[in-house]
Amino acid sequence: MTNKTIYLSSPHMGSKELTLVTEAFHTNWIAPVGPHIDAFEKELSSYVGGSEVAVLSSGTAAIHLSLVLLGVQEEDYVICQSMTFSASANPIRYQGAIPIFVDSEEDTWNMCPEALEKAIQGCLTGDLPGPWTGKARKPKAIIPVHLYGVPAKMKEIMAIAQKYEIPVIEDAAEAMGAHIQGKHCGTFGDFGVFSFNGNKIITTSSGGALISPSKASIAAAKHLATQARDEAPHYQHSKIGYNYRMSNVLAGIGRGQLEVLDERVRARRANFEFYRSALREIQGISFLEELPDYYANRWLSCIIVDPAKTGGVDREQLRRAMQEVAIESRPLWKPMHMQPVFENFPYFGKKVSELLFERGLCLPSGSNLSEGDLGRVVEVILSKVNP
Ligand SMILES: *Cc1c(COP(=O)(O)O)cnc(C)c1O
Repeated sequence: MTNKTIYLSSPHMGSKELTLVTEAFHTNWIAPVGPHIDAFEKELSSYVGGSEVAVLSSGTAAIHLSLVLLGVQEEDYVICQSMTFSASANPIRYQGAIPIFVDSEEDTWNMCPEALEKAIQGCLTGDLPGPWTGKARKPKAIIPVHLYGVPAKMKEIMAIAQKYEIPVIEDAAEAMGAHIQGKHCGTFGDFGVFSFNGNKIITTSSGGALISPSKASIAAAKHLATQARDEAPHYQHSKIGYNYRMSNVLAGIGRGQLEVLDERVRARRANFEFYRSALREIQGISFLEELPDYYANRWLSCIIVDPAKTGGVDREQLRRAMQEVAIESRPLWKPMHMQPVFENFPYFGKKVSELLFERGLCLPSGSNLSEGDLGRVVEVILSKVNP
């Protein structure tokens, strides 16, 4: 019997996207300017509660622009959550700056506030390893991440950032629709970043957004994102610019997707509940619970597999068993301080993210999965840990 492949997280269009894209074609707005871009920015702003918004070519571009706007330069320190996708940290290196990696904590799997404060003190005193020993500098920015759509401890992180007066860039690429007491992820910091890549909870195929409470910052971001063209009839530039704006065609898709975002969040949360209740009794498999007042979008449903309690079955065995029957799953993000490209940069923390990487597995989580699909996933897991 051949089963259809079950993907980790596949795009899920609503009913309006094609009409909006067709409208872009009919009006010939096939450009990185146009009415869908303006409308998408307004609609996003109203969704998150009034932030200023610039829609861009990617979430990575949004992180990069926020660092440029904060004046991050060569050899500056930028603190970044270690457990994340490399796109959180790569733009630090685009600027020639030094990433200072911080461990996760167990409640949210995101930036540990205690380790953050230690990292800040390490930077301020120059108590850093390798070539940075003795080079005391105040970090230029802090990048916490809301992994898998679970909010980081933003109140605690913002309190520390404010104490030391360091700007915060929230990487909310995975967290559209997630919030703490109704305040959206991405709106706590000086900047917030969303991604609309093909695997995210809503998608424009590729795309992203930068948000901020500061109107001037977002105006500056739009300027930099369009090659930093000055006001003039000819092409005039007084700054280095980027080609980072979103296309009007893709903004049309985004507007359709934003309308179904809350539905997508509900579907992903229902996936999580399905897995959790089906695997509740299984020794050695656990889930990340929501903290009180935290609302996760459950972009990906993840399990932690403890081989000491499953009778020796580890997450790799589960991953391979699923792969054999065309089910895609993936280990949790490998921390940046363990990556060949970043392993020589400073790192503050214990071993929380290392253990999560060793034991964690992301299960298929698309909002378009059927109960049959979810049932197939559970069946494979049960056949291994509960044979
Ligand atoms: C997807 C993602 C990004 C990058 O977004 P793109 O739109 O793909 O550039 C950044 N950070 C995290 C945590 C992500 O998951």
